[in-house]
Amino acid sequence: MVNDKRKVVLVGTGMVGMSYAYSLLNQNVCDELVLIDLDKRRAEGEAMDLNHGLAFSAASMKIYQGEYEDCKDADIVVISAGVAQKPGETRLALLKRNAKVFRSIVEPVTASGFDGIFLVATNPVDLMTRITYALSGFNPRKVLGTGTALDTARLRYLLGEYLRVDPRNVHAYVMGEHGDSEFVPWSQAQVATKSILELCAENPDIEKGRLTEIEKEVREAAYKIIEAKNATYYGIGMALTRITRAILGDENSVLTVSAMLRGEYGQTDVFSGVPCIINKAGIQRVLKLSLTQEEADRFGDSCKMLKECYEELAKEGQ
Ligand code: NAD
Repeated sequence: MVNDKRKVVLVGTGMVGMSYAYSLLNQNVCDELVLIDLDKRRAEGEAMDLNHGLAFSAASMKIYQGEYEDCKDADIVVISAGVAQKPGETRLALLKRNAKVFRSIVEPVTASGFDGIFLVATNPVDLMTRITYALSGFNPRKVLGTGTALDTARLRYLLGEYLRVDPRNVHAYVMGEHGDSEFVPWSQAQVATKSILELCAENPDIEKGRLTEIEKEVREAAYKIIEAKNATYYGIGMALTRITRAILGDENSVLTVSAMLRGEYGQTDVFSGVPCIINKAGIQRVLKLSLTQEEADRFGDSCKMLKECYEELAKEGQ
């Protein structure tokens, strides 16, 4: 840790950021939490509101609205700031606007002398994480995005319900882009150490078709939630908290985050959702699963799409 206090700076105190902050407070994950937003008044109000809950919490956190200089001795800077997609706006146009937002954030954070870990939630998260890496010049092990952490949690929950097994004993991952090209490598999915595909073959009650449906439900979950309540934030707030705990607690936990690939799965120069071992150094290691050829092809397609998008953005000089 950078100092003896576990210090987190949150940039972007919107719905996602504040769901994360609320969850940090409830789970007693850090000692100091600094809130930064373009809208300073909002960040101030959020700090007041959280502080008033401290008396009911097990945490004794210091929470305040701050400035970029406060990042200097932080362990983690979490970015959930961004602009929302306008009706009819293309993905690339949104990406360009969020790249601009990130320039106004990452540059002052690094200028403060910050030497901790960047954790990014803003969408499109794999590309925004790559942009953070490019702008900061940090070692890629210290720059990660939430990637498919939330999608993986959704998958384990749904599989747990279907198989009637505690989701904590379901080991399955969503890999690739956090978005339409993400996929589940079923050959690697297990209940305890039993392959789910084997379970399927042995048990007529477990249908392979239902597994495919579950994969689709996971991919479309965000659309469904947005249709119903305009945004998603509690799940991602909890996912950010889980990743933060793994970093601050030096846990060496396996989580599917957006990490830079340097030869793993035959990919380079791309940030994509993969299972990683997370500890105080950030990404200690990317786990290389033994994918089937078909799964490796799907992962390759997802990475290709992410690379093309980033190159398109770079071509336009953003
Ligand atoms: P929001 O509009 O509620 O909050 C965004 C915040 O960013 C606002 O408070 C705004 O003032 C702030 N902001 C904008 N520009 C800024 C700047 N230049 N500097 C500092 N702050 C700035 O949005 P939200 O619902 O909290 O969503 C935030 C992001 O998280 C979105 O990109 C969303 O798509 C993403 N998200 C990601 C996941 C995931 O799984 N990775 C899930 C849900 C949402």
